Amino acid sequence: MKKATPAKKTTATTKVTAAKKTAPEKKVTAAKKAAPVKKAAVAKPAKAESHTALVRRARRIDRELAEVFPYAHPELDFENPFQLVVATVLSAQTTDLRVNQTTPALFAKYPTPEDLAAANPEEVEEILRPTGFFRAKTKSVIGLSKGLVEQFGGEVPGRLEDLVKLPGVGRKTAFVVLGNAFGRPGITVDTHFQRLVRRWQWTDQTDPDKIEAAVGALFPKSDWTDLSHHVIWHGRRICHARKPACGACPIAPLCPAYGEGETDPEKAKKLLKYEKGGFPGQRLNPPQAYLDAGGRPAPPLGAAG
Ligand code: SF4
Repeated sequence: MKKATPAKKTTATTKVTAAKKTAPEKKVTAAKKAAPVKKAAVAKPAKAESHTALVRRARRIDRELAEVFPYAHPELDFENPFQLVVATVLSAQTTDLRVNQTTPALFAKYPTPEDLAAANPEEVEEILRPTGFFRAKTKSVIGLSKGLVEQFGGEVPGRLEDLVKLPGVGRKTAFVVLGNAFGRPGITVDTHFQRLVRRWQWTDQTDPDKIEAAVGALFPKSDWTDLSHHVIWHGRRICHARKPACGACPIAPLCPAYGEGETDPEKAKKLLKYEKGGFPGQRLNPPQAYLDAGGRPAPPLGAAG
């Protein structure tokens, strides 16, 4: 019911006029207090940016993020392609942390596609319960394992067209697997990726496949997998959905959406997550580079949240 304030409008306006000198915002009329600060801080969207300028800016953002997250990696724990494809399917509608806390028990009991294909669904459901939607996920991973055994001799295929034939595997999952278990370049258009590339005006597409094509055209193929990590890591740590930490953002000068979030440096710092905020990461077994950079492993299931 924000509209219930029209009566206030006049008084608010006069008050703001008096305070004008400190807040360099002219159009404060209807808006009250918080809004002007935000508006004043918003960088101008790069209007009519040429394709060349966009490519240059996009690549510069990626280079900056590579410096901020030199240890970026997939945040699902896995030791082989089978574990990665299963973990990726399980990561729908939950955090990578929760998946990582759940998969050790799953893979200890069912280490191969053959084992999981022959599993008793009720026992798998019990293990997968913490990931949410555990009945559907049980069906998915058992179906996926059966597909691997029946169609691919128990091996995870290393081609997009084969991967997407497996039950429960879409392009997003396939690219995660290709990029991280087979070293084949792929762009992972998850929720963070979609949000950030729109904030950066890399594309205004909303369909994941179209986003993938539009962003893919801005970068050499060899950059795609690392680019995906950089963007997703930035989205998880700094450029949050609801409250981006603009005041602590290393790429703020390149971002048309600067000011959408907290611009006060001290307040913004408090919004940072995982290693950037001094907290544990999502992997129970992160790569050494992450630990060397001061990152901490996630706690096992039951030890935390
Ligand atoms: S945190 Fe703010 S400035 Fe940084 S990328 Fe996100 S919206 Fe842009």
